[in-house]
Amino acid sequence: MNNYADFFRRSIDDRDAFWGEQAQLVDWKKPYDRVCNYDNPPFAKWFEGGLTNLCHNAVDRHLATRADQNALIFVSTETNVERTYTFRELHAEVQRMAAVLQAQGVTKGDRVLIYMPMIPEAAFAMLACVRIGAIHSVVFGGFASVSLASRIEDCAPVAIVSADAGSRGGKVVPYKGLLDEAINLSSHKPARVVMVDRGLAPMSTVARRDVDYATEAAKVQNAQVPCEWVDATHPSYILYTSGTTGKPKGVQRDTGGYTVALAASMKHIYMGEPGETYFSTSDIGWVVGHSYIIYGPLIGGMATIMYEGLPIRPDAGIWWSLVEKYKVSVMFSAPTAARVLKKYDPEYLTKYDLSSLKALFLAGEPLDEPTAKWISGALGKPIIDNYWQTETGWPILGIANGVETKASKFGSPGVPMYGYNVRLINEANGEELTTPNEKGVVAVQGPLPPGCMQTVWQDDKRFVSTYWTGSGANMMYSTFDWGIKDADGYYFILGRTDDVINVAGHRLGTREIEESISSHPNVAEVAVVGVADQLKGQVAMAFAVVKDASLVTDDAAARKLEGEIMKLVDDQLGAVARPARVRFVTVLPKTRSGKLLRRAIQAVCEGRDAGDLTTMDDPAALQQIKDQVAV
Ligand code: AMP
Repeated sequence: MNNYADFFRRSIDDRDAFWGEQAQLVDWKKPYDRVCNYDNPPFAKWFEGGLTNLCHNAVDRHLATRADQNALIFVSTETNVERTYTFRELHAEVQRMAAVLQAQGVTKGDRVLIYMPMIPEAAFAMLACVRIGAIHSVVFGGFASVSLASRIEDCAPVAIVSADAGSRGGKVVPYKGLLDEAINLSSHKPARVVMVDRGLAPMSTVARRDVDYATEAAKVQNAQVPCEWVDATHPSYILYTSGTTGKPKGVQRDTGGYTVALAASMKHIYMGEPGETYFSTSDIGWVVGHSYIIYGPLIGGMATIMYEGLPIRPDAGIWWSLVEKYKVSVMFSAPTAARVLKKYDPEYLTKYDLSSLKALFLAGEPLDEPTAKWISGALGKPIIDNYWQTETGWPILGIANGVETKASKFGSPGVPMYGYNVRLINEANGEELTTPNEKGVVAVQGPLPPGCMQTVWQDDKRFVSTYWTGSGANMMYSTFDWGIKDADGYYFILGRTDDVINVAGHRLGTREIEESISSHPNVAEVAVVGVADQLKGQVAMAFAVVKDASLVTDDAAARKLEGEIMKLVDDQLGAVARPARVRFVTVLPKTRSGKLLRRAIQAVCEGRDAGDLTTMDDPAALQQIKDQVAV
């Protein structure tokens, strides 16, 4: 088949036959009984009755054909370590990690929290968990103790795998203190903490709880740990993401549907061939890291590069030197990274042999036209935008060049990917918009295709009430993004409909940041909004009302308090969530019923018209924000 329109239609109209074919791309220990059970919308059970294993499909399956080819290529420009692991070596490492976890009491269905920098042991831990049927929950290493504690509390891990430290721009970021503090804060206590000691930062050890990975691994040097065959619907992992409320949602992914979805995406969207090299510059703490640093490329029989470091260190040519050295054929990054590189001479990109590279995929945040044009010109390669979310695990919108070559349009992530019955919905009346270029909420008619979230961990109700509207077979999933569709069927994403902001491709909830700032003893009230930023896409901007106005009487005092608040956010949530500025006001703009007018604050910060303010309680409140932003 080489007509994408037909391919797509079939994925919707003849859903089970379509996905049944895609399921042939992976190994099954026992074939499934049913492709899709959607008897209880919006809960979709894909490949029910089938037995499989994610680690088998990512690692063991390739031993017969490519045992001595590279599987994992680790490059750290932070510690100057470069190491490659063949599929055979990766298989051995994963079994070792699996044996260590088993020795700590981890069994099928147990949660294991992984709080690690970008080091090979993090990949071993993820693969080891799914190998034995344990459910991993990777927490981004940039998050601090309060963020980590809420995740420990929610997923109640039996064990945590962590490391002494990460490193960023040559600066060591110790993890152990944050981890101990997070465990203190959480009412759930993991039985075991497995620590990888990189020799970067000193660590204190909690007796009978903390174990050293190297010591434990040495005891099981030649461990043979068979794959645990699990039902296709068995959860593979939980990945927390921000939403409207302060409490992060645990996105729960299945096993069979996810394996099939990734295998299909490697073929139809990313066009990576077995034996080639895939380089995704994301972090394992994010969904792109799960799907396209670890699982997708390995399922596709490709080598994957795991890179610890900045894109500009030792210089802005580092990524491209890796493309040359490892003959990368598919690369995946975020628009922010391209905007960072744009500040440097394009020579850095072109002085390396990039002939192996077929395309650069960008996702995670809107790709602005100047950046897209710059990087496409500098690389001389196709730049392919794709739009998706932690919830979906793989692209909702994109260009499936593996099916049919289609032109990209600047500013658009493309067209609905097979399996996603995408609709634009009028927010006011819930009806579908059919006229081109009308703005609506991007929604997907259920069932979501394989690979998407099964539910919110331990909270089916929240899954339904957060994401779904309508009833029965007509239930509609909301992405919480605004979009338009042009006359050719290409979509354009116009930003979130909720209080989620996107800072350098990192998704953050403004409410989480507000909660953290409010915990400062001198803050009475605070509003956080996302404001457009040339480099990061958006930055968080905070406006706080202080309890004691004498603390902010002059600039120096205000700066001091601002510094304290920023440090508080750093310590609780992590530097990624730190607002660009914290400004002080005596009152926040609200409606008469007491609702914060975030969109009005955001508009003022961005120099736009604040819109209809007839419901505003105190017009002087917005004026204060205008005055603050003006200085
Ligand atoms: P995350 O769950 O962290 O991947 O964030 C998902 C959100 O990032 C989406 O809901 C969008 O708001 C935004 N996003 C992701 N990819 C794109 C893209 N290609 N263009 C515009 N926005 C995007």
